Amino acid sequence: GSSETRGPTIFDKIISKEIPSSIVYEDEKVLAFRDINPQAPVHVLVIPKLRNGLTQLGKAETRHAEILGHLLYVAKLVAEKEGITDGFRVVINNGPTACQSVYHLHLHVLGGRQMKWPPG
Ligand code: 5GP
Repeated sequence: GSSETRGPTIFDKIISKEIPSSIVYEDEKVLAFRDINPQAPVHVLVIPKLRNGLTQLGKAETRHAEILGHLLYVAKLVAEKEGITDGFRVVINNGPTACQSVYHLHLHVLGGRQMKWPPG
């Protein structure tokens, strides 16, 4: 990958709690915390604690299947925990064209307002 997709990211410091974040859910495999620049009343990022090659979804391999499934399940838990009963959106930006800015896989969980489609 390009230089921007190698090396540590800001999320490593969030995982180690060197940088504080508002944690919504945590277990041994994943962390969910509020986005610093929320695009909806509820905007939570769900990330694997171990990046393990998952800089972006486009790098996924068969060995990642279990964590990928868990991340998606935790997105649902987060929506539930945030009290969203009327719908939510899960987004993964993959690569520069999709506006990915942090190269550690993350799911955006968005809710609390009416969403538009197509997202643009
Ligand atoms: P991307 O654009 O890569 O899909 O999403 C990265 C997200 O990480 C952005 O929505 C951005 O606001 C969020 N973000 C970047 N740095 C920090 C940070 O230090 N703390 C938190 N909580 N969110 C961050």
